[in-house]
Parts: sequence; C-alpha cells; structure tokens
Amino acid sequence: MSERLADIGVLGLGTMGANLALNMAEKGFVVAGSNRTAEKAYALRDDNGAVGQNIVPTDSIEQFVATLKTPRLIVFMVPAGPIVDEEMQRIMPLLSPGDIMIDAGNADFNDTVRRSKAIADTPFHFVGMGVSGGELGARHGPSIMVGGEEQVYSLLSKILEPISAKYQGTPCVAWLGPDGAGHFVKTIHNGIEYADMQMIAEIYGILRDGLGLSAGEMSDIFADWNSRGLSSYLIEITAVNLAEKDPDSGKPLVDVIADEAGQKGTGRWSAIEAQKLGVGATTIEAAVSARGISSRRKERAATAALYGSVAGVRGDFHPDKDGLKELEQALETAKIIAYAQGFAVLSAASEERGWNLPLGEIARIWRAGCIIRSQFLDDITRAYEASGPAANLLHAPQFVERVKAGETALRRVVAKAALAGIPMPALAAALSYFDDYRRARGTTNLTQAQRDLFGAHTFHRLDQEGVFHHQWPAV
Ligand code: NDP
Repeated sequence: MSERLADIGVLGLGTMGANLALNMAEKGFVVAGSNRTAEKAYALRDDNGAVGQNIVPTDSIEQFVATLKTPRLIVFMVPAGPIVDEEMQRIMPLLSPGDIMIDAGNADFNDTVRRSKAIADTPFHFVGMGVSGGELGARHGPSIMVGGEEQVYSLLSKILEPISAKYQGTPCVAWLGPDGAGHFVKTIHNGIEYADMQMIAEIYGILRDGLGLSAGEMSDIFADWNSRGLSSYLIEITAVNLAEKDPDSGKPLVDVIADEAGQKGTGRWSAIEAQKLGVGATTIEAAVSARGISSRRKERAATAALYGSVAGVRGDFHPDKDGLKELEQALETAKIIAYAQGFAVLSAASEERGWNLPLGEIARIWRAGCIIRSQFLDDITRAYEASGPAANLLHAPQFVERVKAGETALRRVVAKAALAGIPMPALAAALSYFDDYRRARGTTNLTQAQRDLFGAHTFHRLDQEGVFHHQWPAV
C-alpha cells in the first residue's frame, strides 16, 4: 500500500475521470485513482510522465479510501444513474464523518436532489457537480457548476479553482445553490448547447442547399463570423469541421458523415424540465426534436421519395456580402433568443425550488471551459450585472437594441427558407417565440372560450375581476 496520502480521489477513470485526475495532478494535488479495472489507474500514473507521479493508483475500494486525507474528497466519474448509487453504497461503509462525495457525472438533477436528501441523514456530505468542456476541458480547464451545502464548497474550491478554466484570469467555477442546483444548471447548459448547434446546422443547411457552397467555402465563412459577434467555440470548431478532409475518400469529411444525431440525457431533460416549469424554451425543444427526426434517416428517405427532397432546391439566398451578412445577423439574433429561453428556464426553476440561482454568475462561469463558451456570455454577464435578475434577457436594454437590429434578418432568413423548403426548426422557433412573447394581445382568449364551452374550465375577463363561466349555446 502506498504511503502517500492523497488530497482528493477520483473513482472512475474513464475519459472524464482520467483527464480530471491528470488536471488535478498537474496543478500539484496528489490524486488517488480507483477504477473498476484497476490497470487503468496504474496506466494513468505510468503513462503520464511527471504529472503521473502525482497519481496514486489503488487496487481496491478499501485501499482507495485509506489513501485519502480526511475529510475525504471523493469524485465519482462514472455513468449517470444507478451506478452512482451502487458506488456510493459500496464506499459509504468505509467513510468517516465529514467526508464528501462529489458526483461529477451528468446526473439527472432529480437524482441529485434525492441523493442529497438521503445523505442529509448520514454524517457525510454530498455534492452534485456539473462539469462541462468534454475531454479537453476536463484535462486543461472545465467550467464547473457546483451544487450542495455552501460551507462544503469552501473545502472544494481550493482544488476546483486551480483546475477550472479561466476567463481573463477569473476561475470558471462557482457554488450555485443547494442540492440539485449544479446539475440542473449543467442540464440547461446542455440544452442551450443543443439549440446553438442546431441553429448553426440550419444556417449550414442554407449555405449548402440554398447557396450551393462547398465545405471549404463554408469553412471560410464560419471562420470570418468567428471574428465578430458570433465569436465562440462552437463557431470556431464548425470552421474546423468543414475544412477537414476524409483521409479515405479525399472528400470533405462532413460530406461522408451520416446525418443522424442522437438526443439523450441532459439535452432531452432540459426540454422536459422547461415543459414542467411552463417555460417556453421552444428553440431548445426544437433542437432536441430535430435530433430525433435526424436519427430516423430511413424514414426521411422514404418521405423524400414521396414528396421530393430539398436537395437541389435553391431559395432566394445570395452568396454576396449582403446575403451572408443577413445569415450572420439572423443567427446572432436567434442565438440571443435561445439563450434568453435557457436563462428563463433557470430563473423559473430557481423560483420554484427556492435555489436563488445567481444568473449573472452562471453566465460568468460559462465564458470559458464549456462547450457554449463565447464572447456573448460576457455580454450576458454584464446585462445581469447592469439590470439584476431580469425576468427574461429580452428585457435587458443591451439585448433589446441587438434584437431590434437583427429581427428583420431573422425574419427574412426564416421566410426565405420556408419558401425554399429548407427546414429551420430552431431558427423558426426562436422567431415565433419572439413574436409570441412580444405580442401584448395574444390568441388564447379563444382557447379559453373553447375550454369553457366544452369543459366549464372558466376564464378571466380583461374588464372585470373574478372568475367567469358562460352558458354557451348547446353544440
Ligand atoms: P467513460 O465511459 O469514458 O468512463 C466510465 C467510467 O465509469 C470508467 O471508469 C468505467 O470503468 C466506469 N464504470 C462504468 N460502469 C461501471 C460500473 N458498473 N461500475 C463501476 N464503474 C463503472 O465515461 P465518461 O468519462 O465520458 O463519462 C463519465 C461521466 O461524465 C458520465 O456521467 C458522463 O455523462 C459525464 N460527462 C461526460 C462528458 C464527455 O464529454 N465524455 C462531458 C461531461 C460529463 P471501466 O474503465 O472499468 O470501464
């Protein structure tokens, strides 16, 4: 058994666990590693030069626990779901009062709330921690969203701050609220990520099918857009994706990749939670649905055979400076609306659960390290700093001006795409949400009338207080 005591332990040394452990080791922390297949823990030490020397591999759960300084900090990096419960049950009999278990996987926040409640009856602590940035983020600096007891965070921050991403020197990690707050915020982060990616894919669809551009030409356009308002990790990697050649066929790699994407876990949950909260996160929902439709590739081919496909369709799009500017502005405007929806979900959850989520702080820790990192999140941080927790970002003066400036471009792009038969589920959803949300007199007065007729559901009146039911003519 090793004589070195470790500052922290990582249980589960797969893609994320191994990289997170190496990140901690590189920052000078001694990290105990435990893995179902123990060889991985030894390989992590032996294959990583000087950094690996701060990894202490262990062969058994007992040895892992004994290797940790107290109070023990134990990070679980295993697949979300019952495996987390099983691993917690396995380790708890070996722990001492005050030890802290940290689930850093993509947990359903409802599970995190349940686990937090269960652990409250024990002498241990439980932290639900969202980690974003994928493999590279985990290795070199992720964005970290922490939920749990606030006083416990002070024991973690001395490790989490050095390993997190930095935005102009500020660590992208924060305690966001009790029990499931961290995992909920990670879930909505991923929902926004789905929306952002889907909107980029839709604009790519116009460039490819509406303008007939090659992958290389499109790469240049995205690289150009990355130098202005849309500047973000996702736009940057889009330019890289489009420029890459397939070593086998010599074609652009994107042209040989099957157009089918899955939707699961946090992305799907973000849409479900938005619906549960009664918040219209229509762009996120459209993005989740679009992935579902994309995965039904054979069905789509059969439908295309019946109705004709959009392939070869050229709409009223132009590859000149003004035409491209319009697409850029449309994407930027829809992005503001999509993020406003994501933050509206956070705001509603915070109110319902009494989490008091710091929305400006959340935008702050998303500025670097995570998949949706961008200049734009700095704008959101400043909007919250200037106007407090607005009910909706579309009310923040900075965004009012930007949406007004880009609204026509979004409207024109969605309209032209509709006429050309190029699908725009997320961009159209963003536009419809905007039109619906800014319409003072809506149309659900008619819906209420129908409900009152067939089910005596009652309605409110604009001109009188109270609840009313009308004796409608028999139908
Ligand atoms: P991997 O599949 O790479 O690693 C899974 C780890 O869990 C391995 O160490 C594996 O052990 C262990 N494991 C699997 N099943 C069991 C089991 N039944 N009992 C004990 N240990 C088990 O997954 P990732 O590292 O990608 O993901 C880990 C968590 O991080 C997940 O919740 C994921 O959603 C989340 N996450 C992933 C991101 C990513 O980009 N990949 C980004 C952010 C979060 P063994 O080596 O023996 O198989």
